[in-house]
Amino acid sequence: MQTVRAVPLFDARCSHCGEAFAHPSLGDAVYGALMLCSVDGRQHAIVDGFSAVPAQVAALLADDPDTALWPVLAALADPPEGSFWSVELHCPHCGQPDPVFQEGTRRGMADIPLARFSQCAAGDLVAQVARLTDRQR
Ligand SMILES: [Zn+2]
Repeated sequence: MQTVRAVPLFDARCSHCGEAFAHPSLGDAVYGALMLCSVDGRQHAIVDGFSAVPAQVAALLADDPDTALWPVLAALADPPEGSFWSVELHCPHCGQPDPVFQEGTRRGMADIPLARFSQCAAGDLVAQVARLTDRQR
């Protein structure tokens, strides 16, 4: 089973602290996948929406248009070392979400691990999704 995906890195500059950094991006062309970023901005993972747990969660949420799929998957994925996943890009220097990007300059590639769902897969997925759905309301 594939556990990493090669993803291009792009320059960004944080609008909060002004530091420059490179961030991995899936781009707009990738359907059914999402980049997770740790809230400290230092770790990334890719959710493959067609893998086992995400596909089950998508099916559970199919009749619930009020609940966004990706935040639920970010909460269910095995958390990064000492942090939590966010669906937004966070600055690795100050941790603020959604730093303003410097457009375009590509800085090579990085191997980003695929998100794992080993913790939630061991439990009752329906109950976990129901709890996260309630929290979003
Ligand atoms: Zn910053």
